[in-house]
Amino acid sequence: MSSVRYGNLFVSLFVIIVLTACSTGRSNEASIEYVARPAYEDVTPVAQLTATPISLPEPEFFISKSTVPHGGTLLISVVGSVIRGTVTFLNIELPLTRGDRSYYTFVPISRTVSLGMERIVIRVVYSNEVEFEEERIVQIVGREWSFYDFSDDNFENPTLLSRIQREDEDATLKATFDRISPVKLWKDGPWLKPLHFDALITSEFGEERDYGDGLTRYHEGVDFSADVGTPIYASNSGQVVLARQLSLRGNYVAIDHGGGLYSAYGHLSTFAAAEGQMVSAGDLIGYVGQSGLSTGAHLHWEIIAHGISVDPLLFTNGANGF
Ligand SMILES: [Zn+2]
Repeated sequence: MSSVRYGNLFVSLFVIIVLTACSTGRSNEASIEYVARPAYEDVTPVAQLTATPISLPEPEFFISKSTVPHGGTLLISVVGSVIRGTVTFLNIELPLTRGDRSYYTFVPISRTVSLGMERIVIRVVYSNEVEFEEERIVQIVGREWSFYDFSDDNFENPTLLSRIQREDEDATLKATFDRISPVKLWKDGPWLKPLHFDALITSEFGEERDYGDGLTRYHEGVDFSADVGTPIYASNSGQVVLARQLSLRGNYVAIDHGGGLYSAYGHLSTFAAAEGQMVSAGDLIGYVGQSGLSTGAHLHWEIIAHGISVDPLLFTNGANGF
């Protein structure tokens, strides 16, 4: 009997010890889990958000430059709990695009806008539907433009093209460059020149041109002198949206960098990229040639923001402030 009672006592003591050990073990485990995953504390149910509005930090507005020349490009970005927004400049409203850490857009300063102080209005809507508005003033300054008389030069004279050819090309480019892909495809960091050496610039952006037809035109890109077959590389990451032959610009590659920004490369001899292809900065996209209307082998390089041609060299020399 007594041995059985002692037996029961030993069993009971054993059970108590095991239970205590298990209970202590669970407690430690729970404590470790809590420390290891503090992110659980940050998860707020959606229902609670609507029931108790939370105050969000006010947006921070950034503008790449306060003084910008003709042909320059401003980068405007907003950091905060933004879900959409716009930038209004010269009565044109541009949508903000979602970037890596901000909502942003590029604002082109056309070759032809008036000089002086100009207002930029940035409006954003927050995830809690609160709206913010910011006004900035930028100073637009002029530049000296080179001049070229094409009136005796029949090679690159666009009036040599039929009106239908010119209108077809303009329509193709307008349809392409007016499109605003709502996603950032370009990567931060310096934009690359499309040739791997310091090629001679034979015609700058903005050059005034007289074709002898009474109309004033200006050069919408920059020309680099290079031999036929010289490799051409993407200036930044994006999607190839045009890789086809045009009447004036010849074999032509255009890359969509997202948010209404494009780069384009003309007069190619051969394509090394196809429409629809995603490319990274520095990827081979084609080779220099003299297709289309061209006085000789060269690369015609363009950057277009919201349908307006801007100076590509200001993207690569840091003058745009990004
Ligand atoms: Zn050119």
